[in-house]
Parts: sequence; structure tokens; C-alpha cells
Amino acid sequence: MFSDWYSALRRLLLIFSALLLAGWLIGQPALVVLVGTLIYLVYHLLQLRRLYNWLKRNEGAQPSPPPEGRGIWGYVFDAMYLLQRREREALLEQKSIIDKAQESTSALEMAVIMISGKGSLVWWNPAANRLLGLQSPKDRHQPVTNLIREPQFIEYFNRGLYKNPLKLNSPVKPSVMLEFQITSFGEGERLMLVRDISQLHRLEMMRKDFVGNVSHELRTPITVITGYLETMLDDRDNLPKRWVRPIEQMAQQSHRMENIIRDLLTLSQLETRSASKQQSAINLLSLLRDIKQDAEQVFAEKGQTFSLNCDDEHYLRGNLNELYSAVSNLVLNAAKYTQPGGQISLTVVMGERGLDVSVADDGPGIAPHHIPRLTERFYRVDESRSTDTGGTGLGLAIVKHVLARHDATLEIKSQVGKGSQFICHFPIERLSNGSEQNPEKPQG
Ligand code: ADP
Repeated sequence: MFSDWYSALRRLLLIFSALLLAGWLIGQPALVVLVGTLIYLVYHLLQLRRLYNWLKRNEGAQPSPPPEGRGIWGYVFDAMYLLQRREREALLEQKSIIDKAQESTSALEMAVIMISGKGSLVWWNPAANRLLGLQSPKDRHQPVTNLIREPQFIEYFNRGLYKNPLKLNSPVKPSVMLEFQITSFGEGERLMLVRDISQLHRLEMMRKDFVGNVSHELRTPITVITGYLETMLDDRDNLPKRWVRPIEQMAQQSHRMENIIRDLLTLSQLETRSASKQQSAINLLSLLRDIKQDAEQVFAEKGQTFSLNCDDEHYLRGNLNELYSAVSNLVLNAAKYTQPGGQISLTVVMGERGLDVSVADDGPGIAPHHIPRLTERFYRVDESRSTDTGGTGLGLAIVKHVLARHDATLEIKSQVGKGSQFICHFPIERLSNGSEQNPEKPQG
């Protein structure tokens, strides 16, 4: 390009030198230079007109080859033609990518919906029409909460916490269960994926019902067996000697079974009942005091020290029985797995993101590879230690469920040989000023 530019300059200099020389020879240098400059200007104006006409012709149409040009004009024509072609090719490529993306999302069973930063519909695939009753193009630019009006959806959408998906019946076909998953991107824009999980939901319900029903059906026979075994043991002096040990073992195992059934029933109730019932402001100090007293009584013979550190003004909005069951599970575990004479401390502190209720002990601790699996049902670190202590392997699963129903999470910190700490993180939204207190005692 620079060589074109310099040769154009050179040519200009040459022309003007020639004009000056010619003007000098005929004795009219100013006139000759003026005429020459005019001719030069007209030449460039003509080239500019050719460029203008060519650009006009190309507007919106397939780019046609540029007019023939010489020198710097030839370079300008060719370079513009190349730029135009490149831009058109890039546009075509982008269009084909968009067409392909639209074609593939149209074939999806799952609804894909793009939502603007203001919460209105930008684009969606045909599955969204089928699953949510959206109508294209009529609903474009409509607020999504005007089209999906279920209060649960509106709360989920406006809250902006999309870590867990939302399950909801389809607004067009109530028998269809949908799962909504939202991802934020760009400047407040959101991508919403909605899929039909009716089949999965039915299986999940069947599993929950099955566990609930089996536990319920087994409860009475086990209670009867335990009752008879206890009665026989009450009169152990009149029992044949060789029967005492087997009956003791039978009583111990039927107690274990009773505990497992009780915990399974609790879990199944937590899974099937809605979380919104029986919410009240719970005074944490009085709740933890009750739990501490119960644990001190149950484990009196271990001589452990229980400490409680909690201000009186901490209130949580939730279900008293459920919170009692979760925290007492943690405290009873701490006492159960910690050696006689050990230390168990209950602490409540305001953390950065809310209120932290912590149960710590100086017991045997838990190896790091066990920690992520502790809240799984029936997961035990040491089978023999757990069965010795009468554990069911369901306690921490119950804790996790209760906390999830209170929008809280469980954090487990532990060091083998030093002790363990179980921290329940409650979000700020769960704090209360205590105005709707529940005066009742928990049914432990
Ligand atoms: P379990 O009824 O067996 O106690 P949990 O679900 O309550 O079942 O606990 C799961 C496992 O986690 C227990 O079997 C035990 O090995 C381990 N565990 C729980 N709490 C503690 C603790 N404070 N210290 C050491 N190990 C613990």
C-alpha cells in the first residue's frame, strides 16, 4: 500500500514539475499550473464517482467486481471489494451457525427459552410451546412471569438463586411434571431449560411411598416382638439359663430395627410433606439448652463435658420438631462417638452469610475421604463402631433433609485423632426477630 501511495506522490510531483516547466517555457506558469490542477481534480472526482456508483450498486446485493482502476484508486477499489466479500462470508457463516443451532434446538424434547435482562421472552423452541403453552410469535417480548403464573415459579424466578432446579406441574397439562433449570449469562439475561420428568417423578414417588409403607407396616410387628422380649427379660431369673443370652441378643437387635424403622419413617415424612407447614420463630438458646440437657442425661455415664455458647436473641424461622431432631442428632452423635470424659460444645455465631449453629467434639475424628459421603443413607465410617453404639446410619441423612427444608447447608470439618465439627449454615432470610414465637416444647 505504501508503495502505491509513494508512487502516486511521485507522479503528482512529476506532473507539477512538468507543468511548471511547460508554463515557464511559454511564459504563463500560473495559468498552466491552474489548468493542470483543475484537470487533476476532475480526474480524481471522476474516480470518486466510479467508487460511489459501485458502492451504490452493491448495497444489499451480491458484491459485483469493482471498476478497473489505476494506481492508488486501483488499490482502493480492490481493498474495498475484499473487505466486502470477507464481511459477507462472515455473515453467511454466522447465519448458518444460527440456523443449525435453531434447527437442533427445534428437534429437542426439552424446552429452551432465552429471557432478556428485563425478564421478557426473547426466543424459544417449539418444545416450549408444547410444554408451557407459549405462542410464537405472539408471546415474544412478554414478561415470562405473565405467561407462567404459578406463584412458586414467580418466586423462584424473581429470587435469582438457581442452584437447585424447580419442579412444577405443566401449566397446560397438569399431569405432566416439569423441571425448570435457569442459568444466568451476559448482562442479566437468562437461559431456561424445561424438561418433562413425569416418568422419573412417578418412580421417585413410588420409591418414597414404598419405603414409607414398608416402614409403617413393619413398625407394629417389631414393637410386639420387642415388647414380648422385654417382658421375658424382666423375668430372666425364671428363664432357662441357655435362653438368657439369645433373648438378650434378640431384644438388642429388635431395638436396632425399631430405631431404623423410626428413622426411615422420619426420612419418608421429610421427603413427602411440604416444608411450609408449622413455621414459627424458634429461640435457639432454649432449643439448644433442651438438647444439651437430653444428651447429658442419655450419656450421663460417659462423664463428658457439654458447653453451650449462644446469645438469647437468636431466633430462626422454621419447624421446631424438625430443627430439634436435626441438632439433637448432631449432639447425640458427638456424644456417642466421643470417648468418656470428652468435650462437646454447642455454639451459635453470626457468620458472613447468616447464622451458624455448630456442634464440635474432641472425639476420634473422621478421615477426609469419608466426609463427602457421610450424609448418604446407611453410610457408616466404621460399621462395627456404629452398630456397637446403636447407630442406624440414617442420622446425618435426616439432618441434611431438615436443613435443606430450612434453606440451610451442612459443613463437616474433621481431623482424625483431634475431633469433628458439624456446622449448620442458616441463610439471613431465615433469621427472625422472635415476634411469632412457638411456646410449645418439641416432641423429641
Ligand atoms: P449413625 O446412626 O451410624 O450414627 P449417622 O448418619 O448419624 O449414622 O452418621 C454416619 C457416620 O458418621 C457414623 O456411622 C459415624 O461413623 C460418623 N460420625 C457421625 N458423627 C460423628 C462424630 N461426631 N465423630 C465421629 N464420627 C462421626
